[in-house]
Amino acid sequence: MELEIPDLCLVVLVGASGAGKSTFAARCFGQFEVVSSDHCRALISDDEHDQSATGHAFRLLHQLVDSRLAMRRLVVVDATNVKRAARRKLLELAAERDVAAVAIVFDVADDVLAQRCHMVDGVGVPLPAVQRQARQLKGALPGLVEEGFSAVHVLQDVHQINQVTVARTRMSCDRRDLPGPFDVIGDVHGCFVELGALLEKLGYGVVRDELGQPINAVHPQGRQVVFVGDLVNRGPDSVGVLRLAMGMVAAGQATCVLGNHERKLIKYLTGEAQSVDRAVMSTLAQLADCGRDFSAQVLRWCQQLPAHVVLDDGGLVVAHVGLRERFQGRDSQRVVKAAVYGEASGDRDEWGHPILKNWMSSYRGDALVVFGYLPVAEPQWVSNTLDIDSGCVFGGRLTALRYPERELVSVPAVKAWWSLVKPLGDPPGLREAPQS
Ligand code: MN
Repeated sequence: MELEIPDLCLVVLVGASGAGKSTFAARCFGQFEVVSSDHCRALISDDEHDQSATGHAFRLLHQLVDSRLAMRRLVVVDATNVKRAARRKLLELAAERDVAAVAIVFDVADDVLAQRCHMVDGVGVPLPAVQRQARQLKGALPGLVEEGFSAVHVLQDVHQINQVTVARTRMSCDRRDLPGPFDVIGDVHGCFVELGALLEKLGYGVVRDELGQPINAVHPQGRQVVFVGDLVNRGPDSVGVLRLAMGMVAAGQATCVLGNHERKLIKYLTGEAQSVDRAVMSTLAQLADCGRDFSAQVLRWCQQLPAHVVLDDGGLVVAHVGLRERFQGRDSQRVVKAAVYGEASGDRDEWGHPILKNWMSSYRGDALVVFGYLPVAEPQWVSNTLDIDSGCVFGGRLTALRYPERELVSVPAVKAWWSLVKPLGDPPGLREAPQS
C-alpha cells in the first residue's frame, strides 16, 4: 500500500499512544521533517514523558510547524492529535501558510494498544488514558474530512502500518523543472486568427490535423508557450483556440493556467451555473457544433488546469490575475481565488467593477509575475510584475512576453469582437496596498 501526499503539506498523525506513529514516521519521513510532542517535551524538560511540560512543548511544536511551512518544507506532526482542539490548531497553521493538511490515522485494535501499553508500563502512558485516546479517535474518524483535511488515510492493522509507503506527488503549480525559454501569451478570448498570427510572429511552426485544423505549434529553438488563462469566451473561435491550446499542452509545447472565463465555462458545462452569461454563451454555441465528446474533453481539460504555475526554478510565476509572493507555489482555496479572480479590496469603480487590491506596486518577490485579466492599452510593468492583457478581443492587441528576454511581441486585433464597458486606455482598477 502506498499513501500519496503532496510534496509540500502538513501531515498530521492521529492515533493513541503506542499505535505505531513514531516508528512509522521514522521509517517514512526525514529526521527533520518529523516534529514530535514527546521530543518537544524532552527539549524543554529533559523528559519526554513530563506532562507538566505539555503546554510549553506544544507552543514549541506549533512554532516549528509554522516555520517549516513558511520555509516550504513538509512537516509531520507526531502527537496523538485525538482531540478536536489539537487538530484545529494544526489545520489553522496549514491554512495560514496555504498548504494542504493530510491526516494519517492509526486505528489499531484495542488489544494491540493494551499489549504495547503493558510493555512500557510505568514509564509511558497508563492504559486507561490510552483507551480514552482510542475512544476519542473512533469518535473523530468520521468527521476528519469535514474538519478540513484534504485527505484522510486510515491504517488499521500492524502489518499494514509496517508495510505502507509514502509517495510524494509534485503540486500541479510546481513546474520549476521547466526552464523555458517561454513566450507568455495574454488573454486570447477566442481570437483564433490573432493567436495564429502571434505564434507565427514568435517563430512557431503550426501543425495541422487531417482536417487542416491547427492542433500544435512548435518552435525551432524549443521555446514553450504559457497561456495566462481566458482562452475562451467573447471572441469568434474559442473552439479553435481550445483545440490548439489543448494540443500544445498535450504535446508538451505549452502550459496553461485557469482563467475566470474557463471557470465560468466549467460552471456551465457541469450545470452548476444559474444565470445566463452572454460571454460564455458565445463559446457554448461554438461547442454545440463539435459534438458531446469534444465538450466533455474541454470540460475535463479545464478542470485540471492549475490556478497558477511557478516556472524556471522559481524565476517566473504565471497566474491569471497574478499572485503575491506569500501565495506562490502554495495551494489552498484562498490561493486559487486570488490567482483566478484577484483579491477584492471591497470597493467598486464607477462602472461597477470590483476594485482589486494593488499588491503589485509593493511586490518585492524574486519571481517575475505575469498575468492577464485586467485589459490595458499597453502592457504594464509594475515592480517585477507584468499585466499582459492588451485587450485583443476588445480591438486591442494580443501580446506575448518573451522570457527570459523580457521583450514584448504583439499583433493587432482583426477587429473589436466584443465591446468593453470602460475605455481600454484606462489603467486597471486597482487599490493601493496598505503599507506594511
Ligand atoms: Mn480576460
